Amino acid sequence: MEERVLIIGGGIAGLSLAWRLAPSLPVVVVEAEESLAYHSSSRSARQMQPNYGPGPIQELTRRSISAVAGIASALGAPILQPRPMLTLGTKAEVAQLVAANANLVPLDHAETMRRSPDLWPGVFEAAALDDTAMEVNVPALVEYYRSQAVAAGAVVLTGSAVDSATAHPDGGYEVVVGEHRITAGTVVNAAGAWADGVAGIFGVRCRGLVPHRRSVAIVSTKIPTDPAGPMVEPVDESFYYRPDGGHLLVSACESVPAEAGDAQVVDAEIATVIRRIDAVTTLGVSGVERSWTGLRTQTADGLPVVGFDEEVPNFFWLAGQGGYGIQTSAALGTLAAGMIVGELPAEDAGLAAELSPQRAGLQQAGEVPAGQVAG
Ligand SMILES: Cc1cc2nc3c(=O)[nH]c(=O)nc-3n(C[C@H](O)[C@H](O)[C@H](O)COP(=O)(O)OP(=O)(O)OC[C@H]3O[C@@H](n4cnc5c(N)ncnc54)[C@H](O)[C@@H]3O)c2cc1C
Repeated sequence: MEERVLIIGGGIAGLSLAWRLAPSLPVVVVEAEESLAYHSSSRSARQMQPNYGPGPIQELTRRSISAVAGIASALGAPILQPRPMLTLGTKAEVAQLVAANANLVPLDHAETMRRSPDLWPGVFEAAALDDTAMEVNVPALVEYYRSQAVAAGAVVLTGSAVDSATAHPDGGYEVVVGEHRITAGTVVNAAGAWADGVAGIFGVRCRGLVPHRRSVAIVSTKIPTDPAGPMVEPVDESFYYRPDGGHLLVSACESVPAEAGDAQVVDAEIATVIRRIDAVTTLGVSGVERSWTGLRTQTADGLPVVGFDEEVPNFFWLAGQGGYGIQTSAALGTLAAGMIVGELPAEDAGLAAELSPQRAGLQQAGEVPAGQVAG
């Protein structure tokens, strides 16, 4: 059977897998858009927060931070920088958060004000601090994954959408990509918001992957922001903000089911977050520099879908990263490459089972319970 692995999707998921796989197998990455990482992967808040998300996500994030720190030192470039995370709440809410997560440190009101002097003192009682949270230079990380994959022999094709495919009797595929036909022994579905649709092209049962839109804006403020200030979010996740290049990056944290596509900004969401920021900080939002909207594609149980499909041979899932696709990319690329090459470390078998496309808890589209949203 053909050795070649065809990765569909040139976002951070597909490229991080190409980085880890290309030294072992022939790899082709196809991306529908003319540029890589055009969709979700260029529209994130660029955070890596080890205390964020369910257990498997936290584990993948810790591994990814360590890998990206290694990449930063290999590059000699500061692509990872500390960005502590402050979660505001009542004393009871903070106590509950800290009890559930050993790495969170409780801060009283005075210490929270010292860490974040721009807050109105009356809007919170206490905070939980994650001092290990990081901000990452996503364009630099994506370019690292791409260039390392290409250096190891991978071929990366942009403007190349997978339209249709035929299964071969030997277990591989002939895939139609525009005017080209690419044969591959293994196909990887790293198509982000389109992942269930791409599964359909291969006759694979979809896994209930639902894109949800979320908007971000860069706003200017009347009072200058502290470039080293923390990321701040309330316990109810109704907004977040952090310094960004002399401005403030803000989001109303909306999570609204949407169609796969080129997500467009909803002005009302930006107006909402500005009202919320002005209600909790003394900074005074004075204008919107730019804004964007992206899609976080998630499953019913909030975990990614990673692994071979047991019903259709040689079809591999790498999708459903929700709000965690940046912070888990290095570790998920490594885990997925291990599964494809057949060299998954024994200690990762449990983690792989939790992400399996065969697991219970994955539902069909339209059955995602309200409230089950990734960050
Ligand atoms: C506002 C916002 C804030 C976020 N903040 C964070 C954060 O701080 N930290 C974090 O970890 N995550 C964050 N995320 C989530 C993160 O951005 C995503 O999880 C991640 O980018 C998903 O990567 P991906 O490669 O799966 O998807 P994408 O980047 O969307 O890539 C999938 C690609 O597949 C291509 N494709 C689709 N169909 C085909 C086809 N038929 N043929 C060829 N190509 C195809 C698409 O064109 C697309 O480029 C955020 C997301 C949003 C929207």
